[in-house]
Amino acid sequence: SRTPIIAGNWKMFKTVSEATAFFAEVKGKAEVAGVESVICAPFTALPALVEAAKGTTIAIGAQNVHFEDNGAYTGEVSGLMLKDLGVKYVIIGHSERRAYFAESDEIVNKKTVAAFKHGLTPIVCVGEKLEERESGATKEVCKVQTEAAFQGLSAEQAAEVVVAYEPIWAIGTGKSSTSDDAQDVIGYIRGVIAGLYDEAVAAKVRIQYGGSVKPNNVSEYLGQADIDGALVGGASLEPASYIALIEGA
Ligand code: 13P
Repeated sequence: SRTPIIAGNWKMFKTVSEATAFFAEVKGKAEVAGVESVICAPFTALPALVEAAKGTTIAIGAQNVHFEDNGAYTGEVSGLMLKDLGVKYVIIGHSERRAYFAESDEIVNKKTVAAFKHGLTPIVCVGEKLEERESGATKEVCKVQTEAAFQGLSAEQAAEVVVAYEPIWAIGTGKSSTSDDAQDVIGYIRGVIAGLYDEAVAAKVRIQYGGSVKPNNVSEYLGQADIDGALVGGASLEPASYIALIEGA
């Protein structure tokens, strides 16, 4: 009874006018009963998208948040500011942020706690590198990242977290994980959450797969018992493709 959630992660793409034009095309179409549709855009496009999304069922998300509310943190944006805009979701700990912006598990945890402080729903990303997959460390890596991210969250908060399992070798490469492999890791992650809380909490957490998800493979992932959605990069950038992802879920 977990509502499937498809989130587009636009990464560093789209100007305000491009974002607005995109939204006008998906409005009414990327809205399917029983599927949550989320667009995670660059900060600059968020005000226009939040405005455009009013009266629709499409939720708007950010791709990062700072853990403090305000302060001398040049270039950063806080949860307080995102909430004030009307943003609902925020991606935290994407592998690109971990790799290029030195986000540690500890920072990911602080950002997750900050998201809840402001009533934002975190989409927390975990996933292994190619070397880790090849050395058989996939589950251990996901366990360490998941346990760190959830530290200090109440059971009520934990149940609201959206986890995105994104094997790094599958991001933007066209090399997607098989749905059986993704299910294996995602079922394991759900067990890790049950270990931190209990089965009831773990049963509420939505866990997405991410990594080369396309309109033609999305339903395969969603057909797996523990996979509750997808976090989609490249295939979320074109209106027709985004609509097809939502329809395919
Ligand atoms: P792609 O869908 O382009 O592989 O990107 C996945 C991703 O990183 C989503 O956050």
